[in-house]
Amino acid sequence: MILPGATLGVLGGGQLGRMFCVAARTMGYHTVILDPDPASPAGRVADDHIQADYTDKAALDRLAECCDVITTEFENVPAESLKYLLDKKPVHPSPQAVEIAQNRIKEKNFAIDAGIAPAPFAAIYAEADLQPAVEAIGFPAILKSSTLGYDGKGQFIVDDLAQAVDAFRSMGSVESVLEKKLDLKKEISVLLARNAHGDVQCYSPAENEHRNGILHQSIVPARVNDEIAKEAIQKTIGLAAAMNYVGVLAVEFFITEDDQLIFNEMAPRPHNSGHYTKDASVTSQFEQQVRAICDLPPGDTRLLSPVVMVNMLGDVWDPDWSFLLSETGVKLHLYGKKEARPGRKMGHFNVLDKDINNAILKAERLFIGLSR
Ligand code: ADP
Ligand code: MG
Repeated sequence: MILPGATLGVLGGGQLGRMFCVAARTMGYHTVILDPDPASPAGRVADDHIQADYTDKAALDRLAECCDVITTEFENVPAESLKYLLDKKPVHPSPQAVEIAQNRIKEKNFAIDAGIAPAPFAAIYAEADLQPAVEAIGFPAILKSSTLGYDGKGQFIVDDLAQAVDAFRSMGSVESVLEKKLDLKKEISVLLARNAHGDVQCYSPAENEHRNGILHQSIVPARVNDEIAKEAIQKTIGLAAAMNYVGVLAVEFFITEDDQLIFNEMAPRPHNSGHYTKDASVTSQFEQQVRAICDLPPGDTRLLSPVVMVNMLGDVWDPDWSFLLSETGVKLHLYGKKEARPGRKMGHFNVLDKDINNAILKAERLFIGLSR
């Protein structure tokens, strides 16, 4: 066990790293982040900020020297850097788990092996793979770059072979997957925390609504039947066990019109759809990350109140905070980012209400009010 007073290292300095650092501090730990960005949101709340590239060996050495355990806040950190650190200090989640989660082909194959079906897909390594792929998958389909995609970036809906070829070329002909576009009834995600002893806790599934490929809001508890919720939790626990996973894992699922549960993707870290846990759960997902990597028991995941989490993007950014702050049952979280850009996640707010329908209505009213 790595006890309070120890120093926790984080690769990456975005809002997830920032909220991790706050949770770690609350529990009496010190934090050091490694991030090249001098204005990184986590850098401002960590005890120390090593400002360097993720592949900078000297910087990785410094991080390993001052930390008792190291984690990551995004999956696109080079797996090589995690492996390098692992020779010096414990790294959770493991480089192997991050390597699976950062590659769509690997994660889908991993899910299949663990008994969870993804949408029908074909791996595309070269342009010549597209023709047989479209024949097997049909249209509409989605072409997604195999690595580095997030918030709907690096993906294109395609309706014929010519569009698929154009999309593939526009992404620089990088390794991709062609995936069947499904008719979705709902999207849900399950968050899990697991320590090295295999002690595990899951939160009840969140129901996620995306707008323009970016998460807009999460409704918890998800309005799905109990069987599907249980199945999603069991499958998430199975995936984590199959990877010997240590840390917080988020698994995104699709629910089709005929109530099939389909694996979408997983993230080896806290997830945007888990931000509600900061105000509506006994233990936040960030505290879970601290507990899991320090080999403490995972915390109580009980929901204290139905909740809706709404993302605030930098598209329209001159909000009247007093309007939001004067509401009962509403909590505002801002990430301290200096520059607002379209699609950039600037903060979120959580709306708590014992009646989920009231929370949904209030969340939408506040969101529209803020966007004016
Ligand atoms: P990202 O890494 O950007 O989150 P996802 O693969 O999760 O990428 O895709 C983003 C969103 O696009 C999904 O949450 C879903 O709304 C939609 N989407 C992705 N794949 C499919 C699919 N096969 N069928 C239908 N909708 C999809
Ligand atoms: Mg996603």
